[in-house]
Amino acid sequence: MSTERTNDQLSQWDHDHFFHPSTHLGQFARREMGNRIIKGANGVHITDREGRTSLDAFAGLYCVNVGYGRSEISDAIAAQAKELAYYHSYVGHGTEASITLSRMIAERAPEGMNQVYYGLSGSDANETNVKLVWYYNNILGRPQKKKIISRWRSYHGSGLVTGSLTGLELFHKKFDLPLSQVIHTEAPYYFRRDDRSMSEAEFSADCAAKLEALIEAEGADTIAAFIGEPVLGTGGIVPPPAGYWEAIQKVLKKHDILLIADEVVTGFGRLGTMMGSDHYGLKPDLITIAKGLTSAYAPLSGSIVSDRMWEVLERGTDEFGPIGHGWTYSAHPICAAAGVANLKLLDSLDLVSNAGSVGQYLNEAMTTALGAHANVGEIRGEGMLCAVELVSDRDDRVFFDASEKVAPRIVAAMLERGVIARAMPQGDIIGFAPPFSLTREQADEIVGVTKAALESVL
Ligand code: PLP
Repeated sequence: MSTERTNDQLSQWDHDHFFHPSTHLGQFARREMGNRIIKGANGVHITDREGRTSLDAFAGLYCVNVGYGRSEISDAIAAQAKELAYYHSYVGHGTEASITLSRMIAERAPEGMNQVYYGLSGSDANETNVKLVWYYNNILGRPQKKKIISRWRSYHGSGLVTGSLTGLELFHKKFDLPLSQVIHTEAPYYFRRDDRSMSEAEFSADCAAKLEALIEAEGADTIAAFIGEPVLGTGGIVPPPAGYWEAIQKVLKKHDILLIADEVVTGFGRLGTMMGSDHYGLKPDLITIAKGLTSAYAPLSGSIVSDRMWEVLERGTDEFGPIGHGWTYSAHPICAAAGVANLKLLDSLDLVSNAGSVGQYLNEAMTTALGAHANVGEIRGEGMLCAVELVSDRDDRVFFDASEKVAPRIVAAMLERGVIARAMPQGDIIGFAPPFSLTREQADEIVGVTKAALESVL
């Protein structure tokens, strides 16, 4: 790295003025941690201002699903900006892009889900979902049925309600979260189960039993909805154990509790199927979408509403007037144009099926290369998602002390070797979520670098 570049003004301004999210502010201000200024990207690679190129095996924040530098999307954004940069979507207004995108989403959503409300982030879409659930129960005349059940280790955003839904300690502590309307239940994390004698099916049944016990303790008439990611993402990239969703949905149905499927990561192909709900047989009432909707070429999120809920919402406005929920940038035409171009590209390049097949190859190659390593407790994944969980003792499943920062050190060693992976925030877990355009050769490179970095640190 050239010192001329690292000491230039931009870097100085970065440290002096840029409040970075999810960053250790003290260390950054004191220059105890470096900064990286990204300049360009193409395919699965990003390049920084120093001219250093890295294979981005996390697709940004698992969002650049079609890969970087797609001119089909940037051209669509430019054309939309020239023709109509903005108009709002209040009181029945729309644009060609926002209406076309709504149709395309409905065609890709599970059956019986036909209306889309737009936001700009996964967090605000989940905020919308909670409001819609509350509105729905008020219209149905059950004002006490309001609590939302989430899972420990889930990630649903960083707002007040959504940060509460998130089940990770870092996002609660010192923020006075979670709010009282949110309660958490067991994470479907088979590898970390307390009773190691349990089979996957027994563990799933146990998760469902714990959920039911919580509902009964709180009173089913106080619980409005359950929210879950089809595959736990930020909490450790954890596919559900066998039979989990079936058992959970049975409990929800019995107690008349709505299901919100948070598909911010899994929506639009990451599991090798268009939606994660289809992958696991979920029948949600609301689906949260964001990242993969535009592959992050522009910020856009959505809440897909089931017909069953929609009918009640319509009835509500007949009774109480227009729905009092709106964002200025809802269905922003530039973002909607990016969404249309992105979904077309997914289809024309068959990227969803590539995510499934190359994702499986990546998982298998990772298992072959590292599955027997003394410090690898589990390698797991689904579609184009993969995680390597590290342990200090494999037989007794003893985890490293967090202060040793094992996963962050391995991820840093990987970066030196040209591959970006993510040290997941809770536990020593190395996460991979590459763009769907990944090739087998690039998957081999990720695996080779992971192995070399892991062996250099451990
Ligand atoms: N839901 C899930 C499952 C996510 O993974 C994320 C972000 O990673 C969010 C919601 C929040 O999305 P955003 O960061 O766009 O607010």
